[in-house]
Amino acid sequence: MNFNDLKIHVLEANHRIAAVGLAKLTWGNVSGYDPDSKRVIIKPSGVPYDRLRDDDLVVLSLDGRVLEGSLRPSSDTPTHLALYRAFPGIAGVCHTHSTHATAFAQAGCPLPCFGTTHADHFFGEVPICRTLTQEEVGRDYEGITGEAIVDCFHSQNIDPLQVPAVLQAYHAPFTWGKSPLEAVDNSIALEMCAQMALLGTSINPSLTPLPKHLLIKHFLRKHGPGAYYGQK
Ligand SMILES: [Zn+2]
Repeated sequence: MNFNDLKIHVLEANHRIAAVGLAKLTWGNVSGYDPDSKRVIIKPSGVPYDRLRDDDLVVLSLDGRVLEGSLRPSSDTPTHLALYRAFPGIAGVCHTHSTHATAFAQAGCPLPCFGTTHADHFFGEVPICRTLTQEEVGRDYEGITGEAIVDCFHSQNIDPLQVPAVLQAYHAPFTWGKSPLEAVDNSIALEMCAQMALLGTSINPSLTPLPKHLLIKHFLRKHGPGAYYGQK
């Protein structure tokens, strides 16, 4: 995808999080990454989705220098940049405060894989990322949030391409993907899975995660070299 197309996809992806109800007010942002030029395109801070135009998007280097755009980038930009620097192969990051996924984040609970809908998108539990200390929040809140997410995945040996989502404690989810629109799709899937998990555990409080063989079957028929879901 060339850089101008990526810009259009970032714009579409930001409109989409509002259109599908994942982002109320301005509670969310999507970015895209161009691996050739190593540039990131992100939503500007505080601009309502219905007024957002392609000229408003901010272009930055991976180390956070603004290269294009007159508006301030999203306040979560350092988190997005940390994910692009650490997770090879991702080219889109999406952050929202979607209700059910955020409820898990605020409760400090990972999202267990209770069914095949979850297994189709995430190869197991979606982890919860630790709370930052007072010192870390004062020093570099959004940057260290990104580092904490990266550390969460590395320390637990979770492949970020197989589990493209995290719940940040007391905050909300971040998802990612191979494009900005795929990152948004993963936010939609995460929100639906969180809602289903809350409903399932209210019906049966002793609900347990789905059996491993079903998790493996559902994830691998959609992802990886032997995938056969969808059309060729
Ligand atoms: Zn947020």
